[in-house]
Amino acid sequence: MTFEALGLNTSLIKALTDAGYTAPTPVQQQAIPAAIAGKDLLVSSQTGSGKTAAFMLPSLHRLSEIDPAAAGKTPNQEMQAARARGERPRFKAAQPKMLVLTPTRELALQVTTNTDKYSVNLRRIKAVSILGGMPYPKQMQLLAKNPEILVATPGRLIDHMESGKIDFSQLEILVLDEADRMLDMGFIDDIEKIVDATPSTRQTMLFSATLDGVVGNMARRITKDPQIIQI
Ligand code: AMP
Repeated sequence: MTFEALGLNTSLIKALTDAGYTAPTPVQQQAIPAAIAGKDLLVSSQTGSGKTAAFMLPSLHRLSEIDPAAAGKTPNQEMQAARARGERPRFKAAQPKMLVLTPTRELALQVTTNTDKYSVNLRRIKAVSILGGMPYPKQMQLLAKNPEILVATPGRLIDHMESGKIDFSQLEILVLDEADRMLDMGFIDDIEKIVDATPSTRQTMLFSATLDGVVGNMARRITKDPQIIQI
């Protein structure tokens, strides 16, 4: 089995070759074609199985196919246009296309580092981490660039949402990474609030060590006709 056979575009294949990935792992073999087709996924897999690439590669593939012209002006372009007209631009909320929620800062940073590696040939697509403990001015600078992808821990993300810095109306893909750990850490209310702020037309992918009990209930509530993958 090759990454080409899973349907990924040549920019991604080149990045994977450069990163030294020769063949997809079992979770990647199952998740990538289904996610490229736009399906919701419920995946039970462990850290080390290659799960980050299993959700990030098909997402990058889909995001790189969105026509930037059809997507309209970005908030950043609108701010530049206002400056050109001699107006003082207002801070426009970032409008990410993809959100990855993770339980910890360390995992969020790992996901962002891997995303940078996979998206190296996709110039238009940038990922940033929004984490507790990071200074607010720095995060405002990152959000002002209107990145396509946010990787966040739930608490800090809620702060930015509630202060109007992030608008999820254009979100296409939502990923919950290590969902069981997020629930164990007491993030259920935050997660529900965030999910409720995203369009119901989004694609949702949930990764968890287990899909039973509370995680399973939440998974069923937030996905539509999901493909279930158990590794
Ligand atoms: P993860 O399970 O996403 O934390 O990934 C575990 C590690 O495996 C990470 O360091 C990845 O960069 C690496 N990895 C993921 N997929 C592959 C692959 N298909 N071939 C080689 N390494 C991979």
